[in-house]
Amino acid sequence: MTVAMAVHGAAGRMGRSVIEVIAQDEDAALVAAIDRAGQPSIGQDAGTFVGRVKPLGVLVSDDVRQAIERAQVIIDFSAPEASIGVLARCVAAKRAAVVGTTGLDAACQEAIDALARVAPVVVAPNFSPGVNVLVALAGYAARMLGESFDIEIVEMHHRNKVDAPSGTAVRLTEVVARARGLDPEWATVMGRSGRPGPRPPSEIGVHALRGGDVIGDHTVVLAGPGERIELTHRAHERSIFAQGAVRAAHWVASQAPGRYDMTDVLGIR
Ligand code: NAD
Repeated sequence: MTVAMAVHGAAGRMGRSVIEVIAQDEDAALVAAIDRAGQPSIGQDAGTFVGRVKPLGVLVSDDVRQAIERAQVIIDFSAPEASIGVLARCVAAKRAAVVGTTGLDAACQEAIDALARVAPVVVAPNFSPGVNVLVALAGYAARMLGESFDIEIVEMHHRNKVDAPSGTAVRLTEVVARARGLDPEWATVMGRSGRPGPRPPSEIGVHALRGGDVIGDHTVVLAGPGERIELTHRAHERSIFAQGAVRAAHWVASQAPGRYDMTDVLGIR
């Protein structure tokens, strides 16, 4: 069955990639492409805007209300301050959503929980299958190796990324901290400078590198006496996130209300 999808943040790097994936998917229909008022993309055909030869017959618009009326699922890759408004409208319309925006604050998390009470919503800081396997492997390794191995997380992204650390690094930190019986909030140490002194075993260092056009690299270092393991995932193409998000949109369209993540979509929980 064809699923009607709307893209919020349509003119951005991820939004454009999601539009391209939907356009190539016979079982998905793009019914709305939304970005903020005043963007040069507004009023252009979404297909030609993303570089397709043939128009898709959907104009990029700033009309969120109409998009939510038309779509079965809203796919959001925008910014936290924009996501929160769309989520509130999804609650009112009981509309399913896929949220890929990262750097979500407590108010956004509350809005997602409110939506999850009335509609299904998938939230993932990373939609790539590979990263979701990395998260599972990192938790497993942290549990198996125990306290004698120190854990550090290093991520690198392109120079235009606005939030740090990446949502994926935050997720990795949560998983390895819990695997070691630590509170992620207390355990996380962002970078180090000055004279922090010897490293306590209860610490998880997180380091954010920024530069060039790196799509997204994540490494979990587990360093023990006389040896270390480095688990690395590198994204080569932005389209892997878009394909994962569209896969999540198909999946979420037939789910009961609730908050889900990519491990539910991939069936690897
Ligand atoms: P981007 O800056 O290229 O695009 C963001 C888009 O959102 C822009 O077109 C912008 O105009 C639009 N926007 C901002 N405010 C808006 C508003 N009020 N209403 C409507 N549109 C609005 O960023 P990007 O690289 O496409 O990333 C978008 C988000 O997705 C970021 O939070 C990023 O970290 C995240 N991301 C997630 C994944 C994942 O797998 N979950 C992968 C890559 C990026």
